[in-house]
Amino acid sequence: MFGLKEDWSLDLPSRYFTLEDYEGGAARWCPGCGDFAILSAVQRICREEQLPPEKVVSVSGIGCSGRFPHYMGTYGFHGLHGRALPIAEGVKSRRPDLTVWVATGDGDCCSIGAGHWLHAIRYNMDMVVMLFDNNIYGLTKKQTSPTTEPGEKTNTHPRGAPLPALDPLTTTLGMTNCSFVAQTVDWNPPHLHATLKAAYHHRGTAFVRILQRCPTYTDHIFAELQSDPDRIRVLEHADGIPVSDAVKRSFRRTLEHDPADLSGARHLATDREFVDIGLFFRDPSRPVYDDFCNYGLEATADDKLSALNLLLDRFTI
Ligand code: SF4
Repeated sequence: MFGLKEDWSLDLPSRYFTLEDYEGGAARWCPGCGDFAILSAVQRICREEQLPPEKVVSVSGIGCSGRFPHYMGTYGFHGLHGRALPIAEGVKSRRPDLTVWVATGDGDCCSIGAGHWLHAIRYNMDMVVMLFDNNIYGLTKKQTSPTTEPGEKTNTHPRGAPLPALDPLTTTLGMTNCSFVAQTVDWNPPHLHATLKAAYHHRGTAFVRILQRCPTYTDHIFAELQSDPDRIRVLEHADGIPVSDAVKRSFRRTLEHDPADLSGARHLATDREFVDIGLFFRDPSRPVYDDFCNYGLEATADDKLSALNLLLDRFTI
């Protein structure tokens, strides 16, 4: 007997999202800016995971990276300088169902926002923190940032930055309760994508430092790394970032590193012979503050009002 089965059915999702669903305004970063690759990787991951755009929030502070939420077709919050992390934590504490991507720069996160950085890592809320690290304040036209290498001539230090650069990896790896620390580069899309995808799947604060090119002000900074890929070493492990053949074709040097080994991760982060990319550290067992701040989410406005009145009644004279 031929013909269609009467009980035949297809289990189709009610909505299917394409890349266009995650696209916001036309990106206006400078031509060749590494931020484009990061935006594209996040949009692709949202599509692969079929995240409803209304369930995604990108949060930023001030700087070139701060434009990120404008270019996502999702909810977004372009916050104040250095304040991306507390805003993202506030969002997550009241809306644990949302996926939160934080876009912050080396000036935004490591300078004015450094206090928030420290506590966000300790709170370990479920979000991806992308550090767009171009070693310079680009938006304010080439000022020294905390990650600017000494000797680099900037508009604030025309004779060369005088202080040692802050290292975002060693700093984060030294923070209490850190649970995920990775590094990647904007100019290798497969590794960038795999790293951000692993960060998305981590429950807790996934901190990803992205070496990000700023061709307008500091095109020389990562030029050597790009022209000599042997300076880059890819961290490999069964529990690490998957290393595709495409990544192996770009970078010949690899190193086996167990991301459960925190002291090994700290040692690698201080190594100046190679620039390591991949997963330095992951510990999914660390406490996540989301588990302690999600009470009362179901309360209605009336419930909240009665609770407030009850509280105030205790002080009635
Ligand atoms: Fe990108 Fe640099 Fe232009 Fe900013 S100034 S948009 S970081 S290239």
